[in-house]
Amino acid sequence: MTVTSIPGGSQGLSTSEDLRQQFAGALLEPGAPGYDEARRVANGRFVKRPALIARCTGTKDVQAALAYARANGLQVAVRCGSHSTAGFSSTDGGIVIDVGPMKASLVDASARTGRFGAGMTWADLDAATQEHGLAVTGGRVSDTGVTGLTLGSGSGWLERALGPTADSLLSAEVVTASGEVVRAGAGGDPELLWGLAGGGGNFGVVTELEFRLHPVGPIVFAGLILHPRSVGGELMRFYRDFMNQAPEEVGGGLALITAPPAPFVPEEVRLKLVCALIVVYTGDPADGPAALAPLLRWREPLVSMVQPMPYTALQKMLDEGNPFGIREYAKVDYLRELPDPAIDAMLDEAARVSSPMTTIVLCPGGGALSRRDPSAVSLVFPDVPWFYQCISAWPDVLQPDEPHIAWTRGFMEAMRPWALDEAPVNFIAVDEPESRLRRSFGEEKFARLTALKDRYDPANVFALNQNIPPSGHS
Ligand SMILES: Cc1cc2nc3c(=O)[nH]c(=O)nc-3n(C[C@H](O)[C@H](O)[C@H](O)COP(=O)(O)OP(=O)(O)OC[C@H]3O[C@@H](n4cnc5c(N)ncnc54)[C@H](O)[C@@H]3O)c2cc1C
Repeated sequence: MTVTSIPGGSQGLSTSEDLRQQFAGALLEPGAPGYDEARRVANGRFVKRPALIARCTGTKDVQAALAYARANGLQVAVRCGSHSTAGFSSTDGGIVIDVGPMKASLVDASARTGRFGAGMTWADLDAATQEHGLAVTGGRVSDTGVTGLTLGSGSGWLERALGPTADSLLSAEVVTASGEVVRAGAGGDPELLWGLAGGGGNFGVVTELEFRLHPVGPIVFAGLILHPRSVGGELMRFYRDFMNQAPEEVGGGLALITAPPAPFVPEEVRLKLVCALIVVYTGDPADGPAALAPLLRWREPLVSMVQPMPYTALQKMLDEGNPFGIREYAKVDYLRELPDPAIDAMLDEAARVSSPMTTIVLCPGGGALSRRDPSAVSLVFPDVPWFYQCISAWPDVLQPDEPHIAWTRGFMEAMRPWALDEAPVNFIAVDEPESRLRRSFGEEKFARLTALKDRYDPANVFALNQNIPPSGHS
């Protein structure tokens, strides 16, 4: 992956004093109060020391920070929620353009649209939209950034009903590498919107996102069911067969986890390997019990907490297992089928999991995910019956990372016979061959994205990402 610094061109912002005069937010250099807190990112494996963290409060701050980076040849990291699984949220010695403080929101409930500052987390956006009983597919951990997730993956509990997040992206405001402010979408550049919706942070700094919103909640029928791992094989087969014909209002996933030592878990089950069914019915909550009945009635669960609940509570259900600063290593694969041997392989690997904090979520496809036009946005989201997210997590203590990383790679290897090669950009790890990114998009999409990159970022200023290099760079 090429990492290019911004070529020179001072635009009058060559010193940090110049920048301070034009910058409304906080500018944090090493040693400044708050610097050490601000340089932390969600994944504790990535500890970096940027020369400057620019906490932007608006579009003008982003322009100023970029001009300063350009004048000083600084490597640029762009950050929203800092959850980059590949470690792109920060830089050693460069500048972090942090849009986190940009949290303005404007929901037009009658038009079912909303405009949001690019610094929102899913907790922020869900709170703003749920006031109106509206939602868009959002991440499964609520402090994940809306912008990073939307541009590069966009998978969440609502996707069988609403498709991935990018499919609801109507427009965006972007500060390009040259400092120009551009509208992507209708009234601006529709091709840029196509590229942003799946091409990741390659084309500029997004300062605002506009979404089409959909009626969901504020109450949904949803929750969690725990079964012992000893019945995992039967449960997974049952869940597979149920979800293969379930209406698209039924969402969720089956997670292979270690039961947390939480009050809602019976004492004898705590820290034991279990299967967790996360279920959600996105239609009228009154219809939920009937729609989910086969799952609710299956055997005698260890725990069953499925009930009408706020959608915002469902969105936070996995938060406790993913605390900020935990060390993580993730792999995601799209499965062309889920035959019994695939289920057995998954359970075998999960039985040897290296950390009790690791979560493997088996997610169903189908519904809106099967009906979408894959060419409408650049996002790679294969139409498959199943995919998994394997997020290995271990606490930041004096234990080596390697056994956890090796276990996760082993899990992916075991699933390879059923896995596609393609994945959305967010889920292509830095230790995978660069060619996977290109193969995932396919030649036609990759050529279109390269043309956009040539137009908006010919010097590859935005290279600290799953990079689409401009022509002539490799
Ligand atoms: C615990 C955990 C759970 C996850 N769950 C899900 C899930 O359920 N569904 C899913 O789809 N993904 C999930 N992911 C993956 C997640 O979507 C990506 O890691 C995503 O990139 C995180 O976005 P962020 O804004 O939080 O991260 P950041 O590190 O802030 O940003 C990631 C990248 O996005 C780009 N970016 C961010 N802000 C901007 C901006 N304003 N302008 C231009 N580019 C920008 C940059 O390239 C940046 O490197 C999960 C990741 C973790 C660690």
